[in-house]
Order: sequence, then structure tokens, then C-alpha cells
Amino acid sequence: MSAHRQGGDGTAPLPPGAWLGVLGGGQLGRMFCQAAQAMGYRVAVLDPAESCPAGMVADEHIRAAYDDAHGLDHLARRCAAVTTEFENVPADSLRRLAQSRITTPSGDAVAVAQDRLAEKSYIQSAGVPVAAHAAIRSAADVDACPDALFPGILKTVRLGYDGKGQVRVASREETRRAFDALRGVPCILEALQPLDYEISVIVARDLRGRAVSYPPSRNVHRDGILALSVVDGSVPSDVADRARGHALSLADHLDYHGVLCVEFFVLRDGRVVANEMAPRPHNSGHYTQDGCLVSQFEQQARVMAGLPLGGTDPLRPAAMLNLLGDLWFDTQGRRREPDWAGVLAVPGTRLHLYAKSEARRARKMGHVNILGADAAQLRERIAQVSAVLGLPDA
Ligand code: ADP
Ligand code: MG
Repeated sequence: MSAHRQGGDGTAPLPPGAWLGVLGGGQLGRMFCQAAQAMGYRVAVLDPAESCPAGMVADEHIRAAYDDAHGLDHLARRCAAVTTEFENVPADSLRRLAQSRITTPSGDAVAVAQDRLAEKSYIQSAGVPVAAHAAIRSAADVDACPDALFPGILKTVRLGYDGKGQVRVASREETRRAFDALRGVPCILEALQPLDYEISVIVARDLRGRAVSYPPSRNVHRDGILALSVVDGSVPSDVADRARGHALSLADHLDYHGVLCVEFFVLRDGRVVANEMAPRPHNSGHYTQDGCLVSQFEQQARVMAGLPLGGTDPLRPAAMLNLLGDLWFDTQGRRREPDWAGVLAVPGTRLHLYAKSEARRARKMGHVNILGADAAQLRERIAQVSAVLGLPDA
């Protein structure tokens, strides 16, 4: 049997020693490599950078642009199955790879997640509630949109992340100015939701359509960037069940293969509204590396290799604290090394660093996973780690 017919199609799993490929060499690719290698697979990373977090640990780093036919064909020759670690990979590159290799997720699924409008309508057609919204492609669209969308958030349809490419707008007049300031690129205007808190659900769905979901993490953002994710049983079970059900419905509706993250708003009246999805492992799921027997990255590799999905129950209350580049600078702006020994002196902690060459403000450099015997002990340990790092208490 040729390598590409073996494996994730549900016949025979890919044997250890087989190659798995990933588009993108960032930290998500790095942690995917590490999980796949731990099960005996070899991994090839395609990323144009000379050096990158995943390229450093991969068995092979193919330096090529994401739309480079030679690079993609090299990856396809090398690997039995291919995935992506970032959502702005050209959907056509995934489609090209899918002609000859198991490719998860599909180019079509990734294309939906790249476009906030397509994403919202897909989510809605899966029967999952979303915020009221309107497409803003021209000044006339601003004039025509319903009053109910104010106050709102104007977001670029493409390429927004970590709160970039979005502006809060109180009125129609502010929306006109914000749309001009975004230079008239296609946008979506969403009604501002009365948030109680934010959660996200990680789903893994295999090539035969069997799926598992992790319990939702509660997410705290700082300056638009995820700061802390906590899984301590504090999300009421009816909210958690609805969110998990919605995430699984969406994965089914997309006939999704691989790991998918769905972000939700929990509103003050208890409603659960989907915000956006990521067609890959997600920062809010990093706690699964230490908080669960099988991490989101291992699930990604298992889907590709045609292996059974793993259990998703947390072993203990767990949290993930993000380490941004800001921590590498003191109050005078001088370079310093954060106190890792101090962090690891707090019981129940594990350090994950991405080996990025340069620390920059707001750059994701690593994370600390923290476990506690119960929610109270977890809280205490999060506070201790935050204090060591000089972070505000979340
Ligand atoms: P990004 O791709 O940057 O993560 P999001 O759509 O997730 O973009 O928005 C970032 C954050 O902005 C959300 O986590 C939430 O805190 C806030 N936000 C986004 N949309 C809304 C909304 N419609 N109502 C209230 N808050 C929102
Ligand atoms: Mg988001």
C-alpha cells in the first residue's frame, strides 16, 4: 500500500516512523512536532523563515513560501499526511496537498475561518447563535445598517488577530470614521455583546467523523491578547454542555477533520453566543498539555495518523498563563530574563518556551501551565506565578 493511502483514511493507522507535515513554523507547529515525535512520527515543517520555532525541532524544515508549488510538492512527497498551524495559509495550498495526501483541515474549512462573514454565516447555519452583525463594504452600508448594531465593534473581515483590525464604535458617525481609518477594507460590524465572561472549546474530529470536545476554558484577555485560560469547573455545567454541543455541531456541519477551537461569549443573561473559530490548536487549549492525558497537539497528530482520539477529561483543575515578550524588559526598558526558577518553585507548574530569537512586546514567547488540587489551590498558584513574573493578578 502506498504511504498516502495508508493511515488516516480509516483503514490502517500510519505506522511510527511515517512523516507528518505542517504548514507554518510558529509555536503551534513546534508543539505539534513535539507531540507527533513523542509518538514516533517524523515531522516536516514548511515555513519561509530561515529559522523558526517549529523548524528548530522538526526532522526537516522546508524553507519555501506557503504558495510555492515546489515547496508544497516537496512536502507532499515527504509526508503521508499534512496539517496547518496557522489559519492564513492559502486555502489553495491545502487543496493542492489534498490531491495526493491526507490533509486536515481541508482548504474549504480554513477558507471559512479566514473570512469573518463566511464564518458567522456558517456558524449560524449550524444552528449556533452569533451576535447580530452586518457586512460593511462601503459608506452606504454604514448608513443602511440597523440601529441595533450600536454600540458595536467594527472588524476587518480578514487578517484580524489578538484584537488587531478592530475598533469599538458607539455610533454610526464613529463607524464611518473607523471604516475610513481602516481604509475601506471589507469589514463586519457586530453589536457589542453584554459579556459576563469568555470561554472556548477545543474539538478534535477524525476522518470518519468521530469527535471529542474538551471542557471549556475560561479566558481572560489583556490588551486584546489572551492572558490566562482556566479550567477549574467554574463554568456552570449547562453553559459548558451548550458550548460543547455547539462546537461539535459546527465541526459536524463543516465536516471538519482535525483540531478546531470555537470561542464563545457567555452573556449576562446566560446565553452562549459563538464569536469565532480557529481551524487549528489554540492558545486557550495549551493547558491540555499538562492538564489532560492527551493534549490538543497529540489529537491533531492522531487524526492525521488515523489513530483513536484520546480522552479529554482534565486530570486536575488547570490553567495556562501566557508569557509575552514584555516580561523580558524591566520598568526602565532594559532587557532581563524572567525568574524561571521562581516560577518553577511554585508547585504544579510547567514551563513551555518557544525559543523565539528575540523578545518583543506583545509577542507570544511561551506559557506556564499550572495545576492545582482544587480550584482554590489553582487560584493561589496562579497568583503566586503572576507575582513572581510581575504580572497583574488576573
Ligand atoms: P481576534 O481575532 O482578535 O481574537 P475577536 O473577534 O475574538 O478577534 O475579538 C477579540 C476580543 O474582543 C474578544 O475576545 C472579546 O473580548 C472582544 N469582542 C469581540 N467581539 C465582541 C462583541 N461582538 N461584543 C463584545 N466583545 C467583543
Ligand atoms: Mg478571538
